[in-house]
Amino acid sequence: MIKKTILLIVIIFIFNACKNSNIEESTWKSAITKSKTINNITYYFPSDVSSNNRKEYIMMCQNAIKENLKLLKETTFENKMDIQFLHSRTEMKNRTGMAAQGMAMFEQNTFYSILRMKNSPVAHEMNHMIAFYKYGMPHENWIAEGLGTLAGGTCSNYSLEEIYQYYLQSNKLIPMDIIVNDFWKKGNNDIITYTQSAFIVKYLLDNYGHEKFKTLWADGFEKFNSIYGFEFKDLETKIKTELKLKYPKEIPFNWEEFNKGCT
Ligand SMILES: [Zn+2]
Repeated sequence: MIKKTILLIVIIFIFNACKNSNIEESTWKSAITKSKTINNITYYFPSDVSSNNRKEYIMMCQNAIKENLKLLKETTFENKMDIQFLHSRTEMKNRTGMAAQGMAMFEQNTFYSILRMKNSPVAHEMNHMIAFYKYGMPHENWIAEGLGTLAGGTCSNYSLEEIYQYYLQSNKLIPMDIIVNDFWKKGNNDIITYTQSAFIVKYLLDNYGHEKFKTLWADGFEKFNSIYGFEFKDLETKIKTELKLKYPKEIPFNWEEFNKGCT
């Protein structure tokens, strides 16, 4: 009898809990999604995206795969993956916990992107996914975000070299130990951390190749000297000297506009 009473109390409790959390049928919203699997990738779109636009986004993704494989000097990409397109940053926040434009959730084999053709985050997020599948998880965030930014580009017409030159001439470079150890440090300007990292990643790839870069990716910045055979500060000096020769005068740069980021 006591057991029965306890069971009844538990059932009443569960019933009330359900009622209280407001999950009655009438409060549900319907979200209809259209999906299509092509090769290893399943694409998901809100149902109100037109068929033509869906095709354009899929072509954008396929192009991003091609460009990223070229950048990583890889030939195939066959991992099963989902790409979820969302209308807004608010939807992104609901789905991923962050109101970003794009989000690579590697553990779920999924990346999310808001729907925008211009300045789309697709190439950047695609880079994260392919790099994680090919190289494994990076030892630090700066190297993944640098590579992702190199792949996705910036929302400006300046080259990464011009951007780095501007940081040099205006004393805006962030010390590398902060970028390496605390990439999302409060007070850091994200635009600087991402683009400064992208320039360093590009310089390392262009001048010292992919094999060393992969080792740095896996082993971390602490091993920089043993991987490259010189200290990182020597690399910074070398870059500074080269840019001084190339840009003897300060370059014109619209910082205010650039600092707005992707609007
Ligand atoms: Zn990223």
